[in-house]
Amino acid sequence: MIELAEAIALVERTARPLPPRRVPLLEACGGRLAAGVVADVDSPPWDRAMMDGFAVRSADVPGGDAIVELEVAVDLAAGDTTGLVVRPGTCARIMTGAPLPGGADSVVPVERAVDDTARTHAGGRVRLRDESFRAGQHVGRRGDAFRAGREVLAVGAALGPAEIGLAAEAGATHVVAGARVRVALVSTGSELVPPGTTPAFGQTRNTNGPMLAAAVTLLGAEPIPLGIAADRPEAIRALVAQGLAADVLLLSGGVSAGDLDLVPGILAQCGVEQVFHKVRLKPGKPVWFGMLPRADAPPTLVFGLPGNPASSLVCFELFARPAIAILAGRPREAWHLPRGRARLMGQVKAAADRPVYLPCRLDRTPRGLEAQPAAWSGSSDLLGMAGADGLVALPAGGRRYDVGDEVEVVLR
Ligand code: AMP
Ligand code: MG
Repeated sequence: MIELAEAIALVERTARPLPPRRVPLLEACGGRLAAGVVADVDSPPWDRAMMDGFAVRSADVPGGDAIVELEVAVDLAAGDTTGLVVRPGTCARIMTGAPLPGGADSVVPVERAVDDTARTHAGGRVRLRDESFRAGQHVGRRGDAFRAGREVLAVGAALGPAEIGLAAEAGATHVVAGARVRVALVSTGSELVPPGTTPAFGQTRNTNGPMLAAAVTLLGAEPIPLGIAADRPEAIRALVAQGLAADVLLLSGGVSAGDLDLVPGILAQCGVEQVFHKVRLKPGKPVWFGMLPRADAPPTLVFGLPGNPASSLVCFELFARPAIAILAGRPREAWHLPRGRARLMGQVKAAADRPVYLPCRLDRTPRGLEAQPAAWSGSSDLLGMAGADGLVALPAGGRRYDVGDEVEVVLR
């Protein structure tokens, strides 16, 4: 059994960033760029209308109170183009997003058409009065946003929706980014049945599978659910063999001291080197961690998480989360959940021999963070974990904490 801080440090030292890969744009969402994105076209690529209205020659528009009557020479919707040039005394009916025709340099919004002429189409005459008219108004000029050849996203850019959209605008279908970490998931236990099954006597629904897949997804990694392995060596070995092809293998169950806790032995047979087994931590004491060296990539990391769902989740947050973040190439500040200090709003008790993590609800108040401990019965209780946006972290020592005491919290 090792100390919690030592276990976390061992995970941090064993995990290595995956080399960046060229991936389809969407796969890079949530990751960071490893090579800049350079625009292949100007944006906008041509002068375009930014309002629905009439494309005019500014010399034709008097401004102020005066009304000008112009002949509508052509109708242009977004996607339409024309070779026609707007001559003095004429204009084009134009919709937002259409290219400005030659000769025109401004758009008068349709709301500025007077005397019921707003619906005028090609062949008709429109009457316009635009008191705030400025030459060049409501036109997005070619290259206003960026020019071809400009680096619109630099190395290290975090790829969220805006960045993905911008890369697409710049013509990138693929980007070089921190690789999406592939995380295989195996739930062990002969008692386990899929969640869609009503458990018969002796059976338990596999809650860790969906729970851990969700946790992996929220980290921007790719879950690969391999299903349930019964507590038979061949069954576990078969799924472990598949899972070891991923970057990370998360097993749950079968790592404590029971007769059928076969996982550590099978992992050893598969060449996985144990880094630690059992950590001074509650819940989560049985957790197992090891690695399988790979010739052409950083080692595959293997976590044997406890079977009890709440333990499994706490161990995921403390150990698997930083491992996945490191593989993904995230900066150190992003490896762990943030921590802070909070005032307790209920009583809690520390364990004598190990640090304890207890689910709580956090409130941001003018006096600072307040932590309301959840009603929670222990390592198998997910109901108490659900809705908890924090964990109270208490050091070993068996101390009782009262309302108003300041404690460390983990923000989820
Ligand atoms: P184990 O760590 O395999 O000894 O399992 C500890 C407890 O967690 C047992 O009550 C198991 O039935 C339960 N358990 C194990 N795996 C899961 C799972 N995937 N989903 C829900 N409960 C589980
Ligand atoms: Mg089991």
